[in-house]
Amino acid sequence: MSVALITHPACLDHDPGRWHPESPDRLRAVLRALEAEEFLALMREEAPLATVEQLCRVHPESYVHAILAIRPEPGDSFAIDSDTVMSHGSAEAARRAAGAAVHAVDAVMEGWARRAFAAVRPPGHHAERNRAMGFCLFANAAVAARHAQARWGLTRIAVADFDVHHGNGTQDVFQDDPGLFYASSHQFPCYPGTGRAEERGVAENVFNAPLPPGATGADFRRAWAERIMPALDRFAPELLIVSAGFDAHKLDPLAQLRLETADFGWITERLLEVAGRHSGGRLVSVLEGGYDLEALAASVAIHVRALLQA
Ligand SMILES: [Zn+2]
Repeated sequence: MSVALITHPACLDHDPGRWHPESPDRLRAVLRALEAEEFLALMREEAPLATVEQLCRVHPESYVHAILAIRPEPGDSFAIDSDTVMSHGSAEAARRAAGAAVHAVDAVMEGWARRAFAAVRPPGHHAERNRAMGFCLFANAAVAARHAQARWGLTRIAVADFDVHHGNGTQDVFQDDPGLFYASSHQFPCYPGTGRAEERGVAENVFNAPLPPGATGADFRRAWAERIMPALDRFAPELLIVSAGFDAHKLDPLAQLRLETADFGWITERLLEVAGRHSGGRLVSVLEGGYDLEALAASVAIHVRALLQA
């Protein structure tokens, strides 16, 4: 089954600083893992720049222009907050990251790929409409969802987010639109502090499953199988977008969940089943977090292997 891999070298040029966990080495590790022979069948695509129009479907125009205008000299940096730092190449990287997510939607809607994986950085799910935070500048998955509404006329689009952190940015965009559904498992309490089960959106279109620090893969699987998947099935998305963060891995330094690499294969297979039931198999996956390089590479490999095999 045809799967597109969408990325761009410019995503390596976003440099938030030498000691920052969201480093270019993350994407290098991911792309190296996907060079293995088993991934030769991937259709490799260069990420376009997201247009200002596409970004403005999520973010106010003043915000988009403000972010795109931040362009420190090479070697300099600009800190939006203590976590979120822009370098000379960050604005283009952020436009490529959102553009990859948009291109992934077009790939599965035009039908030349059934699934697509956007291997990009900076990540997106913490970026709110009006606020960059948590390493994120533009809300990549939300930009993809808005594009699916605007260009393809879809009326039910879901984002399933298994990053260990709650995607406050995606929720910020989705919670007021009954045509969008946001589902997340995440460690709680943890950054960014949102994602309580009581946060449900205007039309029960937000489903949060917080997990306590130390929760295992079995706890994660139970949350998805017993609570989140039934909610996704009730919504019946025409397109499923996955915020694929791999920092719930037990080796990840930024959080305290204890998933094994195999758990990311399991969740990918279950999400493919949701897409098969409701979305004609169409699934778009966008890279979010994952900060242990070896665990990230192995987890992305098992994720993309499942995309290729199902
Ligand atoms: Zn994360």
